[in-house]
Amino acid sequence: MIIKPKIRGFLCTTAHPNGCTRDVQGQIDYVEAQSDRSAGPKKVLVIGASGGYGLASRISAAFGYGASTVGVFFERPASGSRTASPGWYKTAAFTESARARGLYTANINGDAFSNEVKQATCDLIERDLGQVDLVVYSLAAPVRRMADGSVFRSCIKPIGETFEGKTIDFNTGQLRDISLQPANPEEVSDTIRVMGGEDWELWIGALKGRGLLGKGCITTNYTYLGSEVTWPIYHHGTIGKAKEDLDRACVSLSAPMSEIGGHAYVAVMKGLVTQAASAIPGMSIYLSLLFKAMKDAGTHEGCIEQTTRFYDSQLYSGEGLRLDDQGRIRMDDLELAADIQQFVSDNWFHVKEDNLEAKTDFAGYRRAFLQLHGFEVPGTDYQAEVDPDMELRLDVAETG
Ligand code: NAD
Repeated sequence: MIIKPKIRGFLCTTAHPNGCTRDVQGQIDYVEAQSDRSAGPKKVLVIGASGGYGLASRISAAFGYGASTVGVFFERPASGSRTASPGWYKTAAFTESARARGLYTANINGDAFSNEVKQATCDLIERDLGQVDLVVYSLAAPVRRMADGSVFRSCIKPIGETFEGKTIDFNTGQLRDISLQPANPEEVSDTIRVMGGEDWELWIGALKGRGLLGKGCITTNYTYLGSEVTWPIYHHGTIGKAKEDLDRACVSLSAPMSEIGGHAYVAVMKGLVTQAASAIPGMSIYLSLLFKAMKDAGTHEGCIEQTTRFYDSQLYSGEGLRLDDQGRIRMDDLELAADIQQFVSDNWFHVKEDNLEAKTDFAGYRRAFLQLHGFEVPGTDYQAEVDPDMELRLDVAETG
């Protein structure tokens, strides 16, 4: 069939297998082009391994350091005329390239919050790798199902006061006003249950309890702070509260990790277009301004540049880590550079439909969103018939 993007709101309901494959190959090429690496991770578990930062973390570890990787994710295969989800295609492409390179690659498609997936992952690591030396937790999920059947939903809302902002209609480029009522206390605590640090602690507890964390093992979790212009909806909102809980979890993990000579870190990453980020109201204007400023300054990075720099210049640089006063690793230095943020705040209230193209990089934002789904990836023939079915060998039967 011929696959085209179908966009509804902030969702694209189709994905292109060949475009996704090329996108992954581009990330692999980038990692392989960097040289002069010191010792790095060798056996890596990535939880949330099929998109955005998690996929890039996996690619950087495998193709940068020759690491064996186990990936846990929640993706959908193609069925009938429905395409697979982008993460399905991208993981299939990654797996093929990594295995062709002789790298151990195992995939678990299921609900990472469940005990079943945790146990299946532990069994697999015990059987095939013995232990891991890096655990990257990069889940971005809308819901968390508990073992007793109850469900928590995360939401993106302000706390305390109504959020008034603007968003860009993806299809028309029109600016729309948005108004979001503040979250109630239950919505705040539910969001923390989904996107906070509790499940990270459960994963580390399960792995450590089985003796699967090697000596000196590192575990990381990604957070976002961003610009003050987005704080009302992000940093000071429900998601910000969940991210605060990551800092709590990181402190609570420091004792169990130190027993094996290891460490837990929260890393502050750059704002980028990913599946999760595209759902945040108002983020499209911020990222369009940010991309413009960073591309003009020559400092723009995507997920793969971020995770590669994260390993090469921080975790495995062989030099001491550069931590902020809260013990976090900062990878948002270029985003928060004074000149970049000055450009964003100078223009924040002046973006209008008729100057969108001139003042911002909405075209780049739009392209990045389409590329997430395998569209507008250079070198892909979108007029050609393509089979939406793409085989992804799973190492554990669908579970959780
Ligand atoms: P993403 O949407 O691109 O990827 C999310 C991953 O989680 C996917 O692999 C998906 O399959 C997996 N997942 C979701 N629910 C699951 C479940 N129940 N079980 C198993 N897997 C599941 O997200 P992202 O933007 O890369 O976010 C990853 C982390 O990085 C998040 O903590 C996010 O807050 C953080 N972060 C993102 C940005 C950004 O701008 N995108 C910036 C800084 C930090």
